[in-house]
Amino acid sequence: MTRKSIISAVLLLWVVLAQCQTIQSKVFELLDLNRPGLEKVKILHQTGKDDEAAAALLDYYRVRTNIKHPTVILDKVTISKDEQKWADDALNHVFFAHKGYQPSYNYGADINWAYWPVHDNELRWQLHRTKWWVPMGKAYRISGDEKYAKEWTFEYMDWIKKNPLLIYTKEEQAKLTKEELSKLENVGFAWRPLEISDRLGAQTDQFTYFISSKNFSPAFLTEFLLNYQLHAEYMMQHYSKDGNHLLFQSCRIISAGTFFPEFKNAEKWRKSGIDIINKEIGVQVYDDGFQNELDLGYHRGAIETFIQAYKTAAFNGFGKEFPQSYKDKIEKMIMATMNSSFPNYESPLFSDGHGGSKSVAIRQYKEWAKLFPENKQIAYMASEGKSGELPPYLSKRFPNAGFYIFRNGWKDDATVMVLKAGPPAEWHNQPDNGTFDLYIKGRNFFPDGGSYVYGGDAEVLKKREWFRQTMVHKTLTLNNANIETMDSKCLLWNTDTNIEKLVVENQGYPGLKHRRAVFFVDKTFFVIVDEAVGNANGHVAIHYQFAQGEVKADNSTNQVTTLFEDGNNVTLQIFGDKDMKMIEEEGWVSYEYGKKEKRPAFGFQCEKNSNKSVRFITVIYPTATSVPKMLAKLVDNEMQEKAVNVSLRIDNKKYDLKANW
Ligand code: MG
Repeated sequence: MTRKSIISAVLLLWVVLAQCQTIQSKVFELLDLNRPGLEKVKILHQTGKDDEAAAALLDYYRVRTNIKHPTVILDKVTISKDEQKWADDALNHVFFAHKGYQPSYNYGADINWAYWPVHDNELRWQLHRTKWWVPMGKAYRISGDEKYAKEWTFEYMDWIKKNPLLIYTKEEQAKLTKEELSKLENVGFAWRPLEISDRLGAQTDQFTYFISSKNFSPAFLTEFLLNYQLHAEYMMQHYSKDGNHLLFQSCRIISAGTFFPEFKNAEKWRKSGIDIINKEIGVQVYDDGFQNELDLGYHRGAIETFIQAYKTAAFNGFGKEFPQSYKDKIEKMIMATMNSSFPNYESPLFSDGHGGSKSVAIRQYKEWAKLFPENKQIAYMASEGKSGELPPYLSKRFPNAGFYIFRNGWKDDATVMVLKAGPPAEWHNQPDNGTFDLYIKGRNFFPDGGSYVYGGDAEVLKKREWFRQTMVHKTLTLNNANIETMDSKCLLWNTDTNIEKLVVENQGYPGLKHRRAVFFVDKTFFVIVDEAVGNANGHVAIHYQFAQGEVKADNSTNQVTTLFEDGNNVTLQIFGDKDMKMIEEEGWVSYEYGKKEKRPAFGFQCEKNSNKSVRFITVIYPTATSVPKMLAKLVDNEMQEKAVNVSLRIDNKKYDLKANW
């Protein structure tokens, strides 16, 4: 035998062994065999015929009709082009682990589940969500081709064998060899609670798609159920302390308890999940309807999770375990999304946000409309205005989360500013208090930079930190450093007149408070007054980052004008102390994970070398072809403790902007 053929033979033997599934008799101890439908399984098991008992159990699952999956409908399976590709790629062990790392990597003929081509934790964690398995299930149901089922069962068993859950005491850990330590490191990725919960949820889908396959053998069923029970029990002991991870985990343990009621512990799982999610909707969602990470993408994710949890239980007769207040809160969350979105259904990428698509948003509104048929505003969004009604208001304040929305309409030609000045928030939040996005007539002129990547080794983290910086947001900094405290207070919100007003302040640094007054003048343009108050000294600057595209920047007038060819433009001009310098800064925006685009960015900087406050006035004016002559100054050259007064001239028109609080 040649060396090559020996290797092939060993590989083949290994593959055969890996696929070898044996009846796991322990499963019968985990199930409540007194349940209706399991009589035959019980007798066979009690008479020691576990092979036949497993076959009877598989028959039971293949015909059981009393459990409804909330999202998988077998006679209406559809698959997208991407999903079909992920399913086909997986046949060659090219696994779709992460959207930010494309094309997907090949994990080898003998799958290496510890392969980590780029040291971004997300890439290695998310491999263990096995996101291509549900698409394989869809591909199988649509084509009837057994190759998908055969490969899925192979990969499922391979995953179990190569990713054992190893638990050591501290003393034992100290004695581990290098190889054992590397296996333990792998447990940290494969068995992270978020990934466990993901698998608990997705495996109910996979189970439903593949159960009828001849490759789904009685032995495989017992392996599957044993693995599933291990997941659910470990999850119950390892919930995250708080945050969106805990939401996902509780939602999926509800799935586990509801979808597999045959387990003796199923009721315990379901009740644990429902208890947590009922509690967390109160903890994680403010009374104004925003989720407490102040990330509009995660906010939507949380809506989906709350709904999924409810639907899973309600479809199977446990809807009453959720109080009415739970549904009311979800409705508020949907209204929060509607208000903080632009007419094109996009919303700012604040915190760790990533761009979403309009079609996904509309699909969500359609689902939400089914759950809240009385809500005419959700119906409006779901139908793109063909039915339903718009809200009877425009601008709106969300006082708990600190989102302030200035709006002059709900349709494409509207002007909408979403300003973020919130309380201390959870993990995904960025130190960006006071920042905003501004959408005018179909264009977001000042998009938030987004997050780019999440976390990993030092190199990956450095990329993430760049996007988190306070100075890459539309707000004020001291020496370009990140603010240390994120706890904005609202001093004034008044939208009763044609000049709408907001005043917020945040003690961002120990010696420096940032107070920001915003005027939405004639519901057309904006004047922002920023004041740096306190005894700290150094460079004080405000920063503005534009949408990608050309701009005309003039540092003699501190003016920047966008140059979009469609004539939909803005001019931004800053009026500051005499020594103010305009500085071109590095500008990036990331709409998708791992992808970034260059964009114009500017800082306007003054020296603060006394206890005296430093002030800036910014005018943001929509312009078509010509730029008006603008002049703004503070009346009495002073912003007082409880008032601000700006004298403004735009060409020949004078404005007197006053706010008192
Ligand atoms: Mg940001």
